[in-house]
Amino acid sequence: MGQTNITDLRVGRDSLNGLGKEIGKFIVTTMEIPWQLSKDKLGGNPENVFMIESMEESWLNDLVAAVPACDAVVGIGGGQAIDAAKYISWKKGIRLVTVPSIISVDAFVTPAAGIRRNHEVAYVGSSTPNPLVIDFNLLRTAPPELNIAGIGDLLSIHTGSFDWEYAESRGQSEYPFSATDVAAGRKILEKIYPKLNAIRENTDEGLMAIVEGYMTMNTICLPAGHYRIEEGSEHFLFYELEERLARPFVHGYIVGLGIYLMSQLQGNQFDMIKNVMDRVGLKYHPVDLGIRKEDLLASLLNVKNYVASKPHLWFSVINDSEITEEWGLKAMAGLRF
Ligand SMILES: [Zn+2]
Repeated sequence: MGQTNITDLRVGRDSLNGLGKEIGKFIVTTMEIPWQLSKDKLGGNPENVFMIESMEESWLNDLVAAVPACDAVVGIGGGQAIDAAKYISWKKGIRLVTVPSIISVDAFVTPAAGIRRNHEVAYVGSSTPNPLVIDFNLLRTAPPELNIAGIGDLLSIHTGSFDWEYAESRGQSEYPFSATDVAAGRKILEKIYPKLNAIRENTDEGLMAIVEGYMTMNTICLPAGHYRIEEGSEHFLFYELEERLARPFVHGYIVGLGIYLMSQLQGNQFDMIKNVMDRVGLKYHPVDLGIRKEDLLASLLNVKNYVASKPHLWFSVINDSEITEEWGLKAMAGLRF
C-alpha cells in the first residue's frame, strides 16, 4: 500500500477484545451507545471516559485541558468520537487508537480531525492510529443500512472522476490532471462491485471491502492533496440541499441521491450505477432522506447558480449544463418521495 495514515491494523471478529490491557494508561472518547457496546470488550481501566457532546473547537479545547496524564486516547464510535480522539492525540502528542463502531463515514481513515470552528467545518492536525481496530462483531451492532452508507463516498468515484475528466477536457481542472489516479479510483469500484451482496449483508468480507476501499482511496488522494476523484457534482448538489434545508443527512444516502441525478446529467452509465446502488441497498431515495419533491427540484434548478457562487467548488458538468424544470422532473421520475 502507498501513502496512507493507516500503518497498524487490527482486524477480526472481536479484535477489540482485551486491547485496554495492552496500551498503558488511557482515556476514551465515545458516545453513550458505542460505549455500552464496547466497554466490556475493551477491558482495562480507562483513566477517564469522555462523552463527546460537541465538535466545536472551544469545547474540544476544554476537553483537552481536562485530559489527565496518560499514554493513549481511544476513540470509539462514529465520526465525532473518532475525530475528537484524533484531535486530543494531536494536541497532546499521545498515542491514538481508533475503534469505529460504524463505518458510515470515513473519519477512521483520514489523518485530519474534522471539527467545527464557529459552526463551520475545519480540518486540523494529522494523526495515525496505532492501531485502527476493525472489529466485525462490533460493527455489526450498528444498523446495517448505516454501514452500507459507507459505500457512498466510494461510489462517488463514478461521478467525481467523470467530472475531473470533464473539467480537464475543458481546460478547467484546478489540479494537474492524473489519468493514473482516475484509473486507480476506478479500480476501487471494480473491486467493490463483486462484493455488493456481502456489503448488503454486512459480512466480514463486505465490511472489509468498504474499509479497504477507503484505505486505497487515501493512498491516491493524500499524495495528490485533494479528493477530486471522488468529489464532484454529486457532492455539490448535496451541499446545495444542505444549505437549502439547513439540516444534516446521512452522508452516504445523500451522496447516493447526488450520484443518481448527476450521472444522468453526465450521461454517465446511469442504469449501471443505479443498479449498483439498488443491489447494495443504499438508501438514496428522497423518502429515506425526508426530502420533498419541490425542494429537490428547486435545488436542481439552483445548483448551477450555487456552484458559481462558491469559488472553492471545482469545475464539473454542472457548470456547462442548463438544468430545466422539464429535465429535473424527468431525472427525478424514478425516485420515491
Ligand atoms: Zn463525501
